[in-house]
Amino acid sequence: MLIRAYAAQSPDSRLAPFDIHRRELRPRDVRLEILYCGVCHSDLHMARNEWKETIYPVVPGHEIVGRVAAVGDEVTKFRSGDLAGVGVMVDSCRECGNCRKGLEQYCEVGSVLTYSAHDRVSGEITYGGYSKQIVVDEDFVLRVSDELPLAQVAPLLCAGITTYSPLRHWKVGKGHRLGVVGLGGLGHMAVKLGASFGAEVTLLSTSPGKEADARRLGAHEFALTTDDAQLGRLDRHFDFILDTVSAKHDYNLYLNLLNTDGVMMCVGAPPTPAEVRVFNLLGGRRSLAGSSIGGLPETQEMLDYCARHGISSDIELIDIAYINEAYERMLKSDVRYRFVIDMASLT
Ligand code: NAP
Ligand code: ZN
Ligand code: ZN
Repeated sequence: MLIRAYAAQSPDSRLAPFDIHRRELRPRDVRLEILYCGVCHSDLHMARNEWKETIYPVVPGHEIVGRVAAVGDEVTKFRSGDLAGVGVMVDSCRECGNCRKGLEQYCEVGSVLTYSAHDRVSGEITYGGYSKQIVVDEDFVLRVSDELPLAQVAPLLCAGITTYSPLRHWKVGKGHRLGVVGLGGLGHMAVKLGASFGAEVTLLSTSPGKEADARRLGAHEFALTTDDAQLGRLDRHFDFILDTVSAKHDYNLYLNLLNTDGVMMCVGAPPTPAEVRVFNLLGGRRSLAGSSIGGLPETQEMLDYCARHGISSDIELIDIAYINEAYERMLKSDVRYRFVIDMASLT
């Protein structure tokens, strides 16, 4: 079936309309009519091949929500008309130790990404959510509640789970001081979730104009990281720091803000390697750690948590024709705080 989409054909081409093939339903497949798709900075890294792993043409988009249009014969979880979501993965080996634990994002064979990967059965390139429809095995489709505005739920499928998972893994909550670095898509979800878990949240930002928003989103404090005096006051202040920065930056600056046994959880994925001064880890027995999205069970848990607590993303709804400008604004840290594509605009 030919489906309307938006694709980049090479690292330096703009995204433009492109027709893709979506497979006929396999017995356990769900066909989703996509209503909204969030715009993640990873989409930009991938469209421009910044991580050197892109398969072209690439149809980005892994914050997908929509309505089930059809299901295969053996599907049990979904019926036509249900709301549903798809995140960063559409398959994994399902047999390795990590898959069995519901940690499909760490599949030892490699999980199949929603776009720019190869389908395990047909070998076809996977295409993401900047499109009208997607076909996914029901095990990788999430249930979405109708209690929250759907467009604002879309970013939970990546920005939400990517920040929820490390905060839960390291049990961040009451009595902890959490620093969130960067107020973009991931950062604003980290502020909301961290505050909701009971932590005292400080936003560490390069943008002076974001202080009021940070506080409105739930941050208790704000510090401008370009101001040495403001950073100096936070020396050894934090139990945890969640780094969501998309571009090259100095990790050492933030490590020194951690107290003894503090953990810096990195989720931002700048394409270039960084230098870490090991003395910043030795002094204070600090840890530098990373975390990738979240598995299927935890993603469902996060969606249910957000529905119960009324947590969703602050978004700017855009037409798909605006996507190239949205990418340019994302590069200027000018996102308030997630672009979401209204797929009705893709005709
Ligand atoms: P985003 O909306 O563009 O936000 C990134 C924020 O980082 C900016 O708003 C800005 O915040 C800050 N920033 C940008 N350049 C900076 C610099 N040079 N120095 C310091 N701060 C800077 O991006 P996003 O969608 O949240 O994604 C963030 C990163 O996470 C990307 O690299 C993305 O690929 C990665 N990611 C990882 C995972 C995972 O599984 N680990 C999942 C999704 C995304 P301020 O204006 O407040 O400084
Ligand atoms: Zn993402
Ligand atoms: Zn596996």
